[in-house]
Amino acid sequence: MLQQTQVKTALPYFKNFLLYHPTLESLSKSSEKKVLKLWEGLGYYRRARNLLATAKILVKDYNSKLPNKMIDIKKLPGIGDYTANALLAFVYERPTIAIDGNVRRVFSRILNKREISIDLIKIIDDNKKSLFETKRHSDFVEALMEFGALVCKPKEPACFKCNIKSACKYFKSAKKFKKIKKRQLLKKNYDIFCCINKVKKKIALTKNHNLGFLDNFFLPPIKETKTKNKIRSWNFHSNFKNSISNKKLNINLYYKYSSKLPIQSQWFSLKANDEFIPSFTKKIFKQLSNFN
Ligand code: SF4
Repeated sequence: MLQQTQVKTALPYFKNFLLYHPTLESLSKSSEKKVLKLWEGLGYYRRARNLLATAKILVKDYNSKLPNKMIDIKKLPGIGDYTANALLAFVYERPTIAIDGNVRRVFSRILNKREISIDLIKIIDDNKKSLFETKRHSDFVEALMEFGALVCKPKEPACFKCNIKSACKYFKSAKKFKKIKKRQLLKKNYDIFCCINKVKKKIALTKNHNLGFLDNFFLPPIKETKTKNKIRSWNFHSNFKNSISNKKLNINLYYKYSSKLPIQSQWFSLKANDEFIPSFTKKIFKQLSNFN
């Protein structure tokens, strides 16, 4: 849950998730539909699917235990180097470092060099004797993450209370390295077509939207366009902006009333649904709230 999501956002979801699935076994018996419902609103839904798939594999093939070899852990769905290293430290107390954005920033500040100009794997390998002097490897991994999040923060590092400032080249240098500007968001225009059953207050959604993101989730038909110009064949409802991963979306929302269900679609209530609905679709529902 914490990949790409802040602790304060994930915490209520985490607590609720554990109420439903307190053990790996109970999670492994769940369905994708139920797990997605618990994840609803948290975004990046591939994480939920991978978590469920991993739980099933661990229960079936590994006697409900995490394998203890890097090569086996990385075969689990959605687990890359970062998570595998974190798991090896947290579960098996292995000397390792989970390299995320926070950790990269801390090292680059200590060395006062841009992140892209340092080979972090090599630096860790060259300094493993001193880095892994402790026996508390899980605490070390956690501490590094927390240090990056709370002290050596992205915007204003709290150098005044930093315990390692005497060893930090960024702190001591008069010529501090400058961060490279963040990558620009891609600007995209989309038209969204909402077929509304006015009497039943329902909307037709489809998984067949070819959107490229939110694959396999229910959305109204959506089409990327080259311009922001409005089309005339549908009723214009509203314009709104949204951001998804590296895309900044400019959306024109259109509607028409019909009681006939379009092909490859399903009716959904504009109010509440048992079925999982991704946040992006919910934002569309919010825009359409005057149909409620
Ligand atoms: S002294 Fe400042 S820049 Fe250096 S590690 Fe500490 S918080 Fe980060």
